[in-house]
Amino acid sequence: MNRRHFLQHSAAFAALPMMTRRPPLRAPLHVNGERLNGWLTAFDGIGRTAGGINRVAYSEADLAGRAFTLDLFRQSGLTPRLDAAGNIYARVPGSVATLPPILIGSHVDSVTDGGNFDGPVGSFAAIEVGRTLLETRTRLRHPVDVVVWQNEEGGTIGSKIAIGALTDADLDKVARSGKTVREGIALTGGNVAQLASAAKKQGDIACYIELHIEQGGLLEKAGLQIGVVEGIVGLRWIEVTITGMSNHAGATPMDQRHDAMLAAAKFSVAINDAIRAEPGRQVATVGRIVASPNTTNVIAGQVVMTVDLRDLDVAKLTRFKATFERLGREIGTATDTTFQFRTLVDSEPAIADPRVVSWIESSAAALGLTRQRMPSGAGHDAQEIARIAPMGMIFVPSIGGISHSPKEFSKADDITRGADVLLNAVIAADRG
Ligand SMILES: [Zn+2]
Repeated sequence: MNRRHFLQHSAAFAALPMMTRRPPLRAPLHVNGERLNGWLTAFDGIGRTAGGINRVAYSEADLAGRAFTLDLFRQSGLTPRLDAAGNIYARVPGSVATLPPILIGSHVDSVTDGGNFDGPVGSFAAIEVGRTLLETRTRLRHPVDVVVWQNEEGGTIGSKIAIGALTDADLDKVARSGKTVREGIALTGGNVAQLASAAKKQGDIACYIELHIEQGGLLEKAGLQIGVVEGIVGLRWIEVTITGMSNHAGATPMDQRHDAMLAAAKFSVAINDAIRAEPGRQVATVGRIVASPNTTNVIAGQVVMTVDLRDLDVAKLTRFKATFERLGREIGTATDTTFQFRTLVDSEPAIADPRVVSWIESSAAALGLTRQRMPSGAGHDAQEIARIAPMGMIFVPSIGGISHSPKEFSKADDITRGADVLLNAVIAADRG
């Protein structure tokens, strides 16, 4: 094409309506996996102790981790800025000024004695995706915002602020570092007095996509490369108090007992049977049990125990909760004890947006990766953002299904594949 033709062609191109200006479909792009995994390896040196990774929110190590992350943004040609919550954002500009950003990211804080993959994988992959878009001069219509949320492990604090859901009482909660959230926001460079300015509303974000390690063993066991998250499960925490009567373990005949411990044992088995009797991914756990007087030669007069019940379907949660209460009453009658139920936590499921799910799936397919739809049993920042924007998550395998542990590990190739899916899902989201 000569210059004159080219100019005529470009003028015609510029005059076309927006819908026809989208670039044609092309082969999937790839991130620089070696670079991404190199960042993760270097990051492993921050907050590493004998017990594991300790980058608990607002600790010295967390602040060092944030400084490392800010540096990655800058090295990648992305200019980081902090919101009033202390969340880190950086933007890859889009070509259509009126479009809201596609948001991608995760967190870099850890639990006590945790691993190096829960959070950093998704955060650094998002930075790598931004860098790849810049390096390949892939100009999307939407801006792409890369975000690193502060204090995910202490209750998704940064993302809660981003949807305007953090309460004044939450500000006084003490994080694992011993600092309050209020103090932590100041330490991260935020401003508690301006928190409202960090809150986004419906329409402010085109969609949110988070890459994360699975933290379960399903993908590894099935030999699959990518988990396409259907949603983050809702949770019911129930405290069950069983009242019987303390009495002498030697002198009280077996048919004259009001044994709270026996009732608790029967109840644990009964809810396990009930939850397993039905197909689906619902889970229920008795994780805490306190008997009193908790003595070898005394029949327990009281047991306080907890039930953790999770599923993607609210109706199922409600039904199982009712079933557990009925089983408690029946076991109470059979064991001459009484059951009382108290709700500790009710959190609703966050369902992934079907369009975001399809973008993730089509990207994984275009990359030739094996995949499966699955729920997330663990909580994530994505569950908060889902309240105001279409959300989706990508999982990569966790070896042995282990997380929140120094044994947490994901293979470099799996991390690269996850980042590739994130990159191409962003491009698919841009096309809409
Ligand atoms: Zn996480």
